[in-house]
Amino acid sequence: MRKLELHWQILLGMLAGVLFALAMVQLDWGPKFISDWIKPFGNIFINSLKLIAVPLILASLIKGVSDLKDISKLSQMGGRTIAIYVCTTVIAVTIGLGVVNIIKPGASISEETRLELVENYKGDADAIKTKADKQKEAGPLQALEDLVPSNIFKAASDNGNMLQVIFFAIFFGIGLILIPEEQAAPVKKFFDGFNEVILKLIDLIMLAAPFGVFALLAALIVESPSLDLFKALAWYALCVVLGLALMLGVYLIMVWVFTKTSPNTFMKGMSPAQLLAFSTSSSAATLPVTMERVEEHLGVDEEVTSFVLPIGATINMDGTSLYQAVAAVFIAQAFGMDLSLTAQLGIIVTATLASIGSAAVPGAGMVMLVIVLAQAGIPEAGLALIFAVDRPLDMCRTVVNVSGDATVSMMVAKSVDKLNTPKVKNWDDNYKK
Ligand code: ASP
Repeated sequence: MRKLELHWQILLGMLAGVLFALAMVQLDWGPKFISDWIKPFGNIFINSLKLIAVPLILASLIKGVSDLKDISKLSQMGGRTIAIYVCTTVIAVTIGLGVVNIIKPGASISEETRLELVENYKGDADAIKTKADKQKEAGPLQALEDLVPSNIFKAASDNGNMLQVIFFAIFFGIGLILIPEEQAAPVKKFFDGFNEVILKLIDLIMLAAPFGVFALLAALIVESPSLDLFKALAWYALCVVLGLALMLGVYLIMVWVFTKTSPNTFMKGMSPAQLLAFSTSSSAATLPVTMERVEEHLGVDEEVTSFVLPIGATINMDGTSLYQAVAAVFIAQAFGMDLSLTAQLGIIVTATLASIGSAAVPGAGMVMLVIVLAQAGIPEAGLALIFAVDRPLDMCRTVVNVSGDATVSMMVAKSVDKLNTPKVKNWDDNYKK
């Protein structure tokens, strides 16, 4: 009998996790049982994914850059990647602004609900503001300064320093291109093999994915706040989800128009990564799987994925920027503010920059939202309004973040003639022919 495909297994795992948690919360000891005995397995699963992120970036990017063989190819690909990333982000923010201005979810919030929400989540919102204040204090060139690590081992020891590791790997790869072939060969060979090992590890970890997402979703359900508040925010959440769905549609069209890949192939190839993005709320944790799927199931050459995807995971967050635009306007509407066209254009700029600056971890988009709010003159206390629904929306926007990276990598691959027919490995997805 043919085994269920991986995305179905993951979907079943998610569903089982939700149902199991809903049943367990009926029991007095249920929530504690899930926190003590189920949640740790979810954490182990996420940790194992994060564990290979830094070695993966190092190995694949060094290999990818050195395979390019000349620096002009690197700058050509780099230029295209950044340009397309910025374009998709601006499209995302514009879609977000369009949806929230048409539906006007904030206008329907009553004074009473608003006060209740602000009261309930005041503490959380303050904590987020303190984090964001630290980022705001930084000078204009801080981001550039942070890009260059003073110690590679220190940088590689913290998953939050992804961009520094990327910088080192590209720099190392350039060095490798510039030295004589016979000296470069053994180093390249080492990283080739290293890379293969890491890819194999990803496959092994993915075998546990259905169980991992079961544990993650079960833990999420027992920890989520009351449903009543969710209802008050349903319109806002709907706007974000609608915007995200439209953005996903834009990707499918882009992939189809530019690479002639059908939406079905794209979605089928990407679905395990998308489901994982949904369950983990982290594009960084999903990165290893995104790379594997794009390479083996969508046919993008490793030279391109190894360069475009790690950079995308850290700087290209279309889902996050779209959400920031909707959230900012929603909060303004809830406080009865009318945002001028200039203020909304300002949101396009700040949400684009803020999403670039957001870390690829759960909740990061909300921290950077503070900067968007501050720039547009919207009260930051409004963060408390949207807190209750942030986690589910974070899950959804992370799916779009990851899909956006995959889309751009396909477009870049096509433009440099590196899009091939996908070669799925025999043992991949636990599926034997
Ligand atoms: N969780 C998102 C990601 O990792 C970032 C965010 O929007 O909070 O892609």
